[in-house]
Amino acid sequence: MNTEIPKQCTVLIIGGGPAGSSAATHLVKNGVDVVLLEKEVFPRNQVGESLIPHIWKYTDQLGVSEKIEQQNFIKKSGGITVWNNKIHQILFAKYGYTRPGLHVERDVFDQILLTHAQEQNALVFHKVVVKKFDFSKDNPVITYIDKRDTINYEGKINCRYVIDASGHSSLLAHHFDVRETVVSELKFLSLWGYFNHSRYVGVDRQSHTISELSKVPPVTFVMSYEDGWLWHIVLREKTSVGLVIHTDKLKGLDKVQREAFFKQSCLKLPYLKELLRDAQFIENSLQFRPDYSYYSRKTCDKKYYCIGDAAGFVDPIFSHGVQNAFYNAAIASLAVMQALKTPEKSARIASLCENRMQQFYSFSRSLSLGDYGINGVSPELVKSLIKSMPMLELELILVASEMTNRSENFKKIAHQAGVWERLSEQHYDNNNCCISDLHL
Ligand SMILES: Cc1cc2nc3c(=O)[nH]c(=O)nc-3n(C[C@H](O)[C@H](O)[C@H](O)COP(=O)(O)OP(=O)(O)OC[C@H]3O[C@@H](n4cnc5c(N)ncnc54)[C@H](O)[C@@H]3O)c2cc1C
Repeated sequence: MNTEIPKQCTVLIIGGGPAGSSAATHLVKNGVDVVLLEKEVFPRNQVGESLIPHIWKYTDQLGVSEKIEQQNFIKKSGGITVWNNKIHQILFAKYGYTRPGLHVERDVFDQILLTHAQEQNALVFHKVVVKKFDFSKDNPVITYIDKRDTINYEGKINCRYVIDASGHSSLLAHHFDVRETVVSELKFLSLWGYFNHSRYVGVDRQSHTISELSKVPPVTFVMSYEDGWLWHIVLREKTSVGLVIHTDKLKGLDKVQREAFFKQSCLKLPYLKELLRDAQFIENSLQFRPDYSYYSRKTCDKKYYCIGDAAGFVDPIFSHGVQNAFYNAAIASLAVMQALKTPEKSARIASLCENRMQQFYSFSRSLSLGDYGINGVSPELVKSLIKSMPMLELELILVASEMTNRSENFKKIAHQAGVWERLSEQHYDNNNCCISDLHL
């Protein structure tokens, strides 16, 4: 195993989450030499356990689907939401998806992706923290702290391209001062923790014990309540429960008070309290992400690309963070490969990629936060994306947005893009996912 960090490489990737590891795989598979620096030792904790079936097209491209299947993660057929007292159930199979969504332990899932990148020949170094950037020369120079030994060493690496996949740290967006917090009515934070022995919501709309998982597939359970919304995602041994609430709710609370607030909320909320009736909170599992919807005014340039959460993040109501990370990684890698072949066009390639990234993030923000035309969202980009989507995929988004009271956002965009009439006819003819019974 190579233990010495090279002094130079073609592409330097920061961060080994789904964005960084998948960009690394795409590049090395195409003969580009890659060094990936990751500050943690994997497996490392990460939230975001509900994956939609869209992810498979990316894992197929990466050649990692089989390794994921071998893990036997929990397969889910869809979701159930209780939003403003209306109950909806969505089944992916109704929208043409033949492969399931997953509930994954993200430490395990992310490690599979990163190990896969290594197996394809990406040079991956853990416990190495990127600290500084110098873009003043032809080739960017990155300064890192190598923490693998008892003494911390400072080192430098010279590369042709930097891909920032540092997640929430958004290193380059901070470096260039282009990171913006979304200004929205929906100014949320998230508080989440894990339980042992929770019951789960089955596809049959009943609650079950974890021992029944092999007989009755689960769904992701989401519910709105007066403070915001919550998720309940059953994993193989434990269950992830999160509250996404207005920032004011936790103002002035310290760590102990936040935990008390979390536990009290879990015990009093309808449906959730039934699911948790025999459950035990896993001590010290509570985590907290303040004020987390943000975006970057610039994500791509001649010498760098920001992907995944390093480029932007919105309320995770539609569970599409990992899918976004995969998508960005795929297009940024294509851009880098093209720029390597035709360096004289690298500015043009970066600007095309920027357009694509902004289009994708803008769509997510318009849908999840209602940011259509504000917060740097270009309605034209969003409209062109929506026009290019398959009808069935749009229908799934429409149904998902109706389950979560974000449908006004979606309808506005669909109207302006001129796809609404066709979509609504099809949708109301074929599907009504409102249900009346849920017995937890
Ligand atoms: C509360 C919440 C719930 C969510 N729920 C879902 C969900 O249900 N489904 C879903 O798909 N998504 C969900 N997400 C989003 C999802 O977790 C992210 O979109 C996804 O992890 C993004 O992947 P990434 O590779 O961009 O970043 P990350 O997974 O965050 O990886 C970034 C990596 O960069 C490393 N790093 C950071 N700084 C440095 C540095 N200086 N030097 C070296 N390495 C560094 C980190 O250690 C980390 O491993 C949720 C997010 C939140 C906050």
